[in-house]
Amino acid sequence: MRIPVIAGNWKMNPPRPSEATSLALAVREVADNLPGVTTVVCPPTVFLADVRRAAGGGRLHVGAQTMHWEETGAFTGETSPAMLAELAGFVIIGHSERRQYDNETDEKVGRKVAAAVGHGLRPIAAVGETAEERRAGSTAEVIDRQVRAALGGLGRIGASGLVVAYEPVWAIGTGDAASGEDAQTVAAQIRAILRDLDPGGADEVPIQYGGSCTPDNAAEYFAQPDIDGALVGGASLKPDAFAAILRAAAELGPA
Ligand code: PEP
Repeated sequence: MRIPVIAGNWKMNPPRPSEATSLALAVREVADNLPGVTTVVCPPTVFLADVRRAAGGGRLHVGAQTMHWEETGAFTGETSPAMLAELAGFVIIGHSERRQYDNETDEKVGRKVAAAVGHGLRPIAAVGETAEERRAGSTAEVIDRQVRAALGGLGRIGASGLVVAYEPVWAIGTGDAASGEDAQTVAAQIRAILRDLDPGGADEVPIQYGGSCTPDNAAEYFAQPDIDGALVGGASLKPDAFAAILRAAAELGPA
């Protein structure tokens, strides 16, 4: 039985800590009443402590958007897994924006996922093909490479707390969401790779869909057998929209 995981990726928003706190309080009110859903908000690193305070030890979990894999050292601007573990329970690794703008390679993603698990953080490992890769018919190949690289440093997948997010890059922030059927095809491929790597642990792993997920299309994803939640960008900044996505996940219940 997998509990759906709905994670809000706030990206570089909102601009002020007071707004981050208000947003977290609004999400908390909904999350605290939805025991069948794991609700996560991922604010900018600088707001993690404020948002954690606002979450108040209830059902709302806090996640970071990235981290380094090393413990300490000369890595200007970076945050270590040990530092994050004090403030967050989850961390997004390998988001396509970091792959695109911050040279987050498959190799770095693998190191980060292993380091997160090693520090008791639940990594949300994000994978997905670009529009060009999709047009070239190489989606399955890209997914296979990215998933195996992301999980390559993990001994066992079972009990690691891992979450995988399938986020087609062409669907992120574009309004051009994948169909439920297409998202399920890739989620099933990811599940098969997980089985190949750890037959006993693969069914524990929640697989999210991400890419222009809204209250209008969320239920379509959650109805798919291998999709157990969503990684939500734009809609996670609107409390009503995010609440509607959370309720859609709660209605469909654990897979
Ligand atoms: C994301 O950035 O992870 C994302 C899914 O964004 P959006 O929901 O805005 O497409």
